[in-house]
Amino acid sequence: MSTSPTSGHATELEATLTALIRDVPDFPKPGIVFKDITPLLADHDAFSAVIEALAARGRDADGRVVVDKVVGMEARGFILAAPVALALGAGFVPVRKAGKLPGDSHVVSYQLEYGEASLEMHRDALAAGDRVLLVDDVLATGGTVAATAQLVGQAQATVTEVAVLLELSFLPGRRSIGALPLTALISVSE
Ligand code: AMP
Repeated sequence: MSTSPTSGHATELEATLTALIRDVPDFPKPGIVFKDITPLLADHDAFSAVIEALAARGRDADGRVVVDKVVGMEARGFILAAPVALALGAGFVPVRKAGKLPGDSHVVSYQLEYGEASLEMHRDALAAGDRVLLVDDVLATGGTVAATAQLVGQAQATVTEVAVLLELSFLPGRRSIGALPLTALISVSE
């Protein structure tokens, strides 16, 4: 795995992430290198450091919490977003695949490589004007983040920042999410 930290040399956290995120070639289908975060999740110190680093994106320079809700996307996004919400003292809102939420929901359909998918969020999960931190594990094409940002917009709330564990910088994720501020704890360039 090659990384391109902005500072020019890997920080301790970047080195830890590089060591604990496992490449699984040809999963779930040929040609895809799956970024398996389960070794990282199993390491308490590394998992804690990741949650703290992601939660920092929901605070201002003086450490004040500047978001009302943390939104996480099914399924690995839940694992990261829920503890980030607890760390910030903010609520957690799940965004789920079609047909999983029991209540009246906003729906956004988006393009996959082959076909289409839908994401849903309960209509009463966010109040108009809520400030939202989006958290997911991997930013790949950006379709999931862009669709989730649309759901937040349908609720008249605002995404203040997107925080992901890992960005695949050889894919057009950053471009697909437009002007949304993005922080990736680690960026993988190939
Ligand atoms: P995308 O919508 O293309 O940005 O894909 C992002 C979603 O797909 C995230 O929720 C990831 O969990 C998952 N994903 C995409 N590519 C990978 C990958 N190479 N390894 C692990 N998860 C991935």
